[in-house]
Formats: sequence, structure tokens, C-alpha cells
Amino acid sequence: MEADEPTTMICTLLAIDNTTGFSYRVCSVCERTLPDNPSSLCKFCSVNAFNPRFPRTKRLFRLLMSIASDTKVLNVICFDRAAKVLFGCSAEEFFDFAKFHPFAAVNASRILDGEMFKMTLSKPKNGNAQHLRAVQVVPLRSGFQPAIVSLRELYGVRSS
Ligand SMILES: [Zn+2]
Repeated sequence: MEADEPTTMICTLLAIDNTTGFSYRVCSVCERTLPDNPSSLCKFCSVNAFNPRFPRTKRLFRLLMSIASDTKVLNVICFDRAAKVLFGCSAEEFFDFAKFHPFAAVNASRILDGEMFKMTLSKPKNGNAQHLRAVQVVPLRSGFQPAIVSLRELYGVRSS
């Protein structure tokens, strides 16, 4: 089934479409998706499974992106590992940054729009999922800098 093999292509990022939120909450042990309500905790993991020194939930990136190859425009979904290449930080850090810097998500999208990448796209294993997944993202421009670096410059924030 060659159609299910991951394909690698050169493409241009046109837009990150979910500018209202780039990330979602998960249980820090089993990574099940949790409601966005900060007080909701995983029902499946016992309290003993958690390391008391770490929070019980964390955030992961989930980006919906429009990309253009030389022949077509595609909508792809990009999860945490590949998205970190674009942002240069964890979803948690970006979420915290966005809390104090209005329009950070819109600006991040604007910063990354037009960048060229080599992307490896794969069909979702779950047949119900509608989008191709960008499983690997490699920036092509030599001067590429991750969104968080450009955002810190834009907002005049020193990186710690
Ligand atoms: Zn859990």
C-alpha cells in the first residue's frame, strides 16, 4: 500500500489555522486528552502514579496548518514533536508566554507564514482522522529562527 507510506515534500507554510489555541491539555502520565478547564484531572491514573514534584497535567502542541507544495495546497495537523521545531519551546512555555503577551498566537502564525520546510507527511493510523500528519518538519532557510525567538524580540523580552 504505497499510499500509506510517509511522503517527504518541500512546502511553504501558508497559515497556522487554529490561532485561538495551539495546544491542548493532557494527563502528564498517560497523555490522555483532558478538557481545557484547568481543574479537570485525569480519571484514569491513580494519584500515586504522579510524581508530587511535577504537575499532573501538561500541554502539548496541536497545530492545524495550511501548506503549499509545488502542485497543491494541503491541510495538515502537526503534533508536539514536530511543532517544537517551529516554536523552539514547549507548548507549556508558549502557553505561558501567550498569557502575558496578547496576540502571541496570531503573531507566531504571521512569523512562520511563508517559511519553507521539508515536511514528512503520513496518513493517520486512525482511519477517522481527517488530516495528514506532519511527522517531521525541517526548516530550509538558513536564517530560520523558531517563533518563540522572534516573539521575544518582537515583545522585547529577554530569554532567561
Ligand atoms: Zn492519566
